[in-house]
Amino acid sequence: QSLANDMDTDAATVTLPQSDERRWSDTSAYARKKILQSWIQLPNGKWELGKILSTSGEESVLSLAEGKVIKVMSETLVPANPDILDGVDDLMQLSYLNEPSVLYNLNYRYNEDMIYTKAGPVLVAVNPFKEVPLYGNRYIEAYMKRSNDSPHVYAIADTAIREMIRDEVNQSIIISGESGAGKTETAKIAMQYLAALGGGSGIEYEILKTNPILEAFGNAKTLRNDNSSRFGKLIEIHFSETGKISGAQVQTFLLEKSRVVQCAEGERSYHIFYQLCAGASPPLREKLNLKSAREYKYLGQSNCYSINGVDDAERFHTVKEALDIVHVSKEDQESVFAMLAAVLWLGNVSFTVIDNENHVEPVADESLSTVAKLIGCNINELKLSLSKRNMRVGKDTIVQKLTLPQAIDARDALAKSIYSCLFDWLVEQINKSLAVGKRRTGRSISILDIYGFESFDKNSFEQFCINYANERLQQHFNRHLFKLEQEEYIQDGIDWTRVDFEDNQDCLSLFEKKPLGLLSLLDEESTFPNGTDLTLANKLKQHLLSNSCFRGDRGKLFTVVHYAGEVTYETTGFLEKNRDLLHLDSIQLLSSCSCHLPQAFASSMLIQSEKPVVGSLHKAGGADSQRLSVATKFKGQLFQLMQRLGNTTPHFIRCIKPNNVQSPGLYEQGLVLQQLRCCGVLEVVRISRSGFPTRMSHQKFARRYGFLLVENFADKDPLSVSVAILHQFNILPEMYQVGYTKLFFRTGQIGVLEDTRNRTL
Ligand code: ADP
Ligand code: MG
Repeated sequence: QSLANDMDTDAATVTLPQSDERRWSDTSAYARKKILQSWIQLPNGKWELGKILSTSGEESVLSLAEGKVIKVMSETLVPANPDILDGVDDLMQLSYLNEPSVLYNLNYRYNEDMIYTKAGPVLVAVNPFKEVPLYGNRYIEAYMKRSNDSPHVYAIADTAIREMIRDEVNQSIIISGESGAGKTETAKIAMQYLAALGGGSGIEYEILKTNPILEAFGNAKTLRNDNSSRFGKLIEIHFSETGKISGAQVQTFLLEKSRVVQCAEGERSYHIFYQLCAGASPPLREKLNLKSAREYKYLGQSNCYSINGVDDAERFHTVKEALDIVHVSKEDQESVFAMLAAVLWLGNVSFTVIDNENHVEPVADESLSTVAKLIGCNINELKLSLSKRNMRVGKDTIVQKLTLPQAIDARDALAKSIYSCLFDWLVEQINKSLAVGKRRTGRSISILDIYGFESFDKNSFEQFCINYANERLQQHFNRHLFKLEQEEYIQDGIDWTRVDFEDNQDCLSLFEKKPLGLLSLLDEESTFPNGTDLTLANKLKQHLLSNSCFRGDRGKLFTVVHYAGEVTYETTGFLEKNRDLLHLDSIQLLSSCSCHLPQAFASSMLIQSEKPVVGSLHKAGGADSQRLSVATKFKGQLFQLMQRLGNTTPHFIRCIKPNNVQSPGLYEQGLVLQQLRCCGVLEVVRISRSGFPTRMSHQKFARRYGFLLVENFADKDPLSVSVAILHQFNILPEMYQVGYTKLFFRTGQIGVLEDTRNRTL
């Protein structure tokens, strides 16, 4: 049999599964006879299962639960799967792939504590909001030995390791989902599995200990999640050639600084503040002049000091232990706590009017003196920096006295900078400790846990950036699972029916286009001294109204049509947050401090301000320091991130939040459906079911499995060897396609070969 012939017949005989019916009208007359039950949507939007008693053309009669019998239009029916498919562990196995069937399947599994389900190549994780017996060494071992094959984060991590070794390609595990959906927990579970591979010298233990530190300093209680991450995180775990962990590196994105000085009713600032106040030892309290959380204005404004079931004092000890483990010295730890106390005391600094032009200066009380003592500066210099501002006008410097709102801004800006520098400094220490040696020759697995899509009643600059990041990630997901996949099929000449998907390029362009995109216009307005939140809103509306992803609303409001839904933003605070100015006076103040942390902060801020400036900011608001705008910096970080991820084989985990009240056992159909829709889970299943997710070049395939051949094919070309392997192992023709350069397989087909290979080796 000639090879050309082989390819032709394959292409002609492949039949795609036809059980994809979404609606009744899509099913054939033959199929209808076999459908015994169906979903019908009740007026309240919920789907209910009914047994089909009779169907005569246009109308059908169904019996619902509790013996109710109803007559409906046949076209409103959505076919349901036979009971035997209840709770299948991969949505690919559903005969009828439609929304109610998927919802039902996830719900069925959720009720049995099976929170993980495969959606083709994607792992769906439904947050249980309670402890489920799925983790720990016994489970880890089972997945390592592959004696457990139910969907799990462990299985994803395991696949990543194997593919890293097999293909010699770096891997990434990309976790997404709304706030509170379980991303951070999932990331930790994946890390736990990787750490179990060991590394020697306790490096894996160190890696795990980064979690309590980063969570203490970067997580806070919000209305949606008691432990909400207020920063994005990429942790890259390095492996040696022998597959052992050799080190790791953490990169963080866009910490929500504003939370340090301000947070909404019922929410908290960063955990570490409360932990410090509750857990510091008496000598430390004395040294830092530490009071209880209630005495600090920054912590008092939201009227929430504790979290149900969380002992802040105990957590403080966990954090200190973790700091020990990542080699932050006791002296440095004390300096860290001093910075935290300084931030808290700064918030208590108050001002008094000193002249008849409403200029103010800070009150020389305990707060002011404690701040000066904690950061190690002269109290008069601190006082000056909070009451005056040096401005450069041309070559001259003029001194401007501050009014109350300006002084409060200066104070809060200083507090935010100290905190965010402290956060960055900690990440740097962690990275120093995790960078074991210079042996970075091996491969890596990166785990990305980045804030999910956010849509609140009021959406500000933070949501704007976060949602922009999510658009980028969504595109990565789309590109990988739909676009590239289909392009590859077509390029390699295999038979293929296109599957449509939502492309979000238009929305990304709305953000990124130059000069008339959201980010450019924002940066431009940020450089105008007279720019205000209202002029920004007007500018956006003036230039972007023709864009279909943009809508102008009244006043400072504008709406962006995101892939996950429409979000209305309010420009209040946009310019200020984007400029994120720290006046040169404050940097000078920090560099004059006798303590080493403030000095380090000052120099890192100076380094930042020397970076090339996109959209010169030096005129803005009379401030002196030039730096990249926050949005531009973030965009740069995102591009870098996408580039890094672009060189990896991605594994996607989609976390789903089943209810908004963080409670176990509650599965809200509507909420789940909305999340499934916005991340394209059904489309992914559809494409994988009819697609060929596994592929390998003829060469690689021949090299990898050629030695299993009984006949001698030593001097044959890779394609002949490959085809011989396929025949010898009886891989059914509809299970693979031979492309010009690669072999394409349906899910699971390569498993047999891989098992045989492993047994033989
Ligand atoms: P996200 O990072 O997506 O905002 P988290 O990972 O912080 O969400 O999860 C929110 C909360 O949900 C956690 O604090 C925990 O109580 C619960 N949770 C999430 N995943 C799990 C899980 N696999 N098992 C048990 N509880 C979980
Ligand atoms: Mg999180």
